[in-house]
Amino acid sequence: MTFSAERILFTDVVVFDGSGTDRFPGQVLVEGNRIRAVARASESLDSTGARTVRGNGATLMPGLVEAHAHLTWPSSVGNVVNAMRMPVEEHLLTTAYNARLLLDHGFTSAYSAGSLGERFEIALRNEINAGRMPGPRLRASSIEKGAEGVMGVPGSHDAAHARDLQGLRAYVAKMAEAGADSIKFLLSSDEGFQPGGAQMLLYSEEEAAAIGEQARESGVWLACHAQAAEAVKRAVRNGFRCIFHCTYADEEALDMMEAKKHDIFFAPAPGLLYARAHEAASFGIGPEQARRMGAVSGLELMQKVCPELHKRGVRVLPGGDYGFPYNPIGRNARDLELFVKLFGYTPAQALVAATALGGELMDMELGQVRAGFLADLLLVEGDPTSDVTLLQDQSNLRAIMKDGRFHKAPALEH
Ligand SMILES: [Zn+2]
Repeated sequence: MTFSAERILFTDVVVFDGSGTDRFPGQVLVEGNRIRAVARASESLDSTGARTVRGNGATLMPGLVEAHAHLTWPSSVGNVVNAMRMPVEEHLLTTAYNARLLLDHGFTSAYSAGSLGERFEIALRNEINAGRMPGPRLRASSIEKGAEGVMGVPGSHDAAHARDLQGLRAYVAKMAEAGADSIKFLLSSDEGFQPGGAQMLLYSEEEAAAIGEQARESGVWLACHAQAAEAVKRAVRNGFRCIFHCTYADEEALDMMEAKKHDIFFAPAPGLLYARAHEAASFGIGPEQARRMGAVSGLELMQKVCPELHKRGVRVLPGGDYGFPYNPIGRNARDLELFVKLFGYTPAQALVAATALGGELMDMELGQVRAGFLADLLLVEGDPTSDVTLLQDQSNLRAIMKDGRFHKAPALEH
């Protein structure tokens, strides 16, 4: 007996393939969970046995990748939770809800920037991969480790680990064994946690080296929060793969990142700071408080660091600490707009960062409309390469496909 995988043919679409070249009218054939073929308008593909989805000129593009996801941060669009701590049962369910909501908004992949539950994301990722729960492809993280209590990491969720070198190594090995894709450390603190926090280093060079060594031995990725210049350098020196914020990166830090640009990813996370600086007044964070929390100066610094690293060829990716009441999960596509507005990206460059570069971050054949790649696709009303804000309106997402299946189905025609 032979099984033929389901075939879906998109016709009359304008393809943005994620590579950064201009959109082109064409057809795309999906077979099973992969893109089988991509054709320009002058050619047409064999549609035998395929269901046809007529795009009527809509844009077909890769699904979005959220590079700095916090699915355990409770607040989402339409569901404000005024706390980071929740009872564990509600917290896990809220995390699963957030995963579905993120996919509903066109993000077919999420790279975690830290969890508030030790095995929440590992368990959730496994359920999603097994097809039992809706959600984006997920690179699951451990809890973000730093000073205990920071980020509201609830004591009962926290993995006890000794702070000596052996304890750190044991922790990394244990989380790798538990199935984490990435282990997150706060190499520096943050103005949002305490005044002057951004310059406080939370791990010594020796500790970071032990963590890096163990991660290589255990075959697990490292991610970190790094604000101070020295925290960024510590991350680069010790093999951290994904570095967040880099707010105070100095010339030496920028040079070090550039030298490792094929190994590292950088997700600055402008979304939270922008929301804090401009949109959080009704949540009790007025202009004065936003300044005290470093949101205004942080954004100004980011506006220097991000364009510079982009120019030097470092992979800078959107994703902005969504999950706070004033920066809820579901608004994530707003980060693309911030890349354009604050960092001088063209809309197409912001889209490449959220798709093709996101695929590299996920380390999967993702983020491009390309034969052989996994079929994570969005059918978008309008042209996001001229206006990325289109992606913030769910009604413009006519179809969301993940792994060859419609999470949101378009009207089918024959
Ligand atoms: Zn974060």
